[in-house]
Order: sequence, then structure tokens, then C-alpha cells
Amino acid sequence: MSNLVRFFGTSAASPSLKRGFACIGLVEKNQNGTKDDDIVLLDCGDGSIRKIMEAKTSCLSISDILVTHFHSDHLSGLAQVIESMDIQKRTRELNVFGPKGLKEYFNQVEETTRIASKRKFIINIKELDAGTRNTKLSNYKLSTFEMEHTVPCLGYRVECPDFILAYTGDTQPCNELQNLAHGADLLIHEATFLQKDIDRARSAKHSTPREAAEDAERSDVRGLVITHINDNYETEEEVISESEIIYPKVRVARDGLEIPL
Ligand SMILES: [Zn+2]
Ligand SMILES: [Zn+2]
Repeated sequence: MSNLVRFFGTSAASPSLKRGFACIGLVEKNQNGTKDDDIVLLDCGDGSIRKIMEAKTSCLSISDILVTHFHSDHLSGLAQVIESMDIQKRTRELNVFGPKGLKEYFNQVEETTRIASKRKFIINIKELDAGTRNTKLSNYKLSTFEMEHTVPCLGYRVECPDFILAYTGDTQPCNELQNLAHGADLLIHEATFLQKDIDRARSAKHSTPREAAEDAERSDVRGLVITHINDNYETEEEVISESEIIYPKVRVARDGLEIPL
């Protein structure tokens, strides 16, 4: 078994021609080829299904979907992914995790759009509170942390004996972030505005690349990838130069990037 992180979409709330909305896969590679890979999806923004296809990944491989919060750039691709699973004749159960309100959202979407109405697979919608510890998730253990954003947002920590992955979703720097990320092998941290736009970052409760690097340094992580890139305000070069003086092992996510764990 080997694991990797595959970035399907890496944009902030405004996408660009280079970047689709937030969608990241934790992929458990099946090396002997007799079985599909297993994928835990972190966020599912609009158009995720197409980005997943572009990465030559089957949506049938997705076992669980973790939604950090209900902003559309993180959630509105969920119905499309589920519809595609049905069209491709999925039979295996799907788990969808997210903050309180996820059941009501899903019920409304289902009632209005009739997505996958004749599906042959069960969808388990599971609402989580911040502070959940070591919930079983496929081959992993899942813990949740309360981030600080304009709406409730869960940071996810996914652990197995070989590695720890931490994902912030959208947040400004906060105390819980260190608990989320402490000792992680890989921290995936948002950074939506540069330090020169710190006022905008604070009013929208987002982070800067420098703050992401400071969080990585404080949390003693082994690697940092910055995502949720706003191409209108920041370039990859600016993100790197602002963060690497504090945390030299930083990388900037782009759609299609794969990082072995
Ligand atoms: Zn966002
Ligand atoms: Zn958001």
C-alpha cells in the first residue's frame, strides 16, 4: 500500500483558467492492480467531477467525501459527483462528512434536483462537531478541529499508522490550528491573500502565505503545501517568496499536483 495526495482543484472562491475549485484526494494506491485505488476526497467545489476525470481518476474509487464548510467553492460539486457515480452504476456505499447542516442541505438538493434518484448505492450523510476524535474512516482515523472562518469550518486530521495529513479548509490563523497540524507529515493550508493584503485576509477570515508558513513552523510539521490560491491577487512566486523564508520546505499546490506520503 502506498499513499499520495492528488490536488484536483486549488483555487480560492474565484477560479481561474489554471485552477478549479477546492478538491483534494487522499489516494491509497493499490499496487497489484487487482483492485481500484481508494480515495478520500477533501472538499468538492463546483466542477470537481471534471477535474477528477482530467486527472484520470475514477469517481467510483471515492469511498468518503469530507466537506470542510458550506461555501460554494468547497461544496457545490457534490451533487455532480454523486450523479456521475450513479451513471457509472456504483453499488458501493458512499460516506459524506461535514459540519452540522449537511443533512438538511443534502435533503434539499436531493428533493429539488432529484440527483441519482434511482441509485443502487447508499449515501451515509454524517454531521460532525468540531472536537471529534479518531472516528473510523476507511483505513484511517479522522479528527476534527474548529477553524476560524466567516462560517463554521472544520479542519480535518486524517491518520493511519504510516502518516498524518492535516487540512485547514478556509481559516485565519487560530489556536486550534496547531492542534490540527501538530506533528503532521503534510499540512495543506489555505492562503488566499498576500501579506500586503492582510486587511482583506482578516475581514474575510483567510490566511496569508506567511501565516501558513508560521503555522507550519509552530506545529512542527514535516511538509507544507499552500492551496486556495487566488490568481487575481497572488502568483505562485509571491506565495513561495513570502513563505519560504519562514518554512523552506513549502510547496504551492496546482491542479494535477501529486505528492507521495
Ligand atoms: Zn474557499
Ligand atoms: Zn470559505
